[in-house]
Amino acid sequence: MGEPGGYRCVECNREAPELYRDYQRGVLRIAICKSCQKPVDKYIEYDPVIILINAILCKTQAYRHILFNTQINIHGKLCIFCLLCEAYLRWLQLQDSSQNTDPDDLIRYAKEWDFYRMFGIASLEQTAFLVGIFTALWLARPESLKTKSDFIFLLKALLLSSYGKLLLIPAVIWEHDYTPLCLKLIKVFVLTSNSQAIRVTLNLSQKLTLLAILSGLMLENGIVYLFQRMGWNV
Ligand SMILES: [Zn+2]
Repeated sequence: MGEPGGYRCVECNREAPELYRDYQRGVLRIAICKSCQKPVDKYIEYDPVIILINAILCKTQAYRHILFNTQINIHGKLCIFCLLCEAYLRWLQLQDSSQNTDPDDLIRYAKEWDFYRMFGIASLEQTAFLVGIFTALWLARPESLKTKSDFIFLLKALLLSSYGKLLLIPAVIWEHDYTPLCLKLIKVFVLTSNSQAIRVTLNLSQKLTLLAILSGLMLENGIVYLFQRMGWNV
């Protein structure tokens, strides 16, 4: 992702001017951190699969590598894709609950509209979750979210760390074999990696991060409750 602040040492979080030094004639050496004397980013030599495994295990170093020292730029597409999966799953559940197999054109259009509605609702819930997190962090640590680029950086980190939602794809493929427990576990995993992303990007304590996540969940559930009160099937 890169910026703001440039590269960081994955071990001690200190800013670093470079990840490796070019000694000409094809000789590259990993830069050594001035404050902790360890390699600034050992992951630049690692296989992407190993890095992914380390990220799944929620290793702080791997998060620092991905968030500060790489140029990954897929958060937007990832977010849309996950929302589509979520909308599709909800839409399926909606079809199950309203058993209507009439092949009428009107019903087909209504079903299509249902899908867009589910997509809209899923997007609003996601937005509420993010707004809740940002509000809590902004109230607790206004200095860490001073500039627009701080905001954007945290937003990107949060969207990227929601990659666990890709586990919904098997749910889309196998439809009914997914139990609510599975969906709960996916949610817990996504929340864990979200909190790790907040902790790493803003260098916060675990307590404050948990508070931000809880605030996000509260606002998200508030929106869900509101929709239910309005009589929308979500
Ligand atoms: Zn260091």
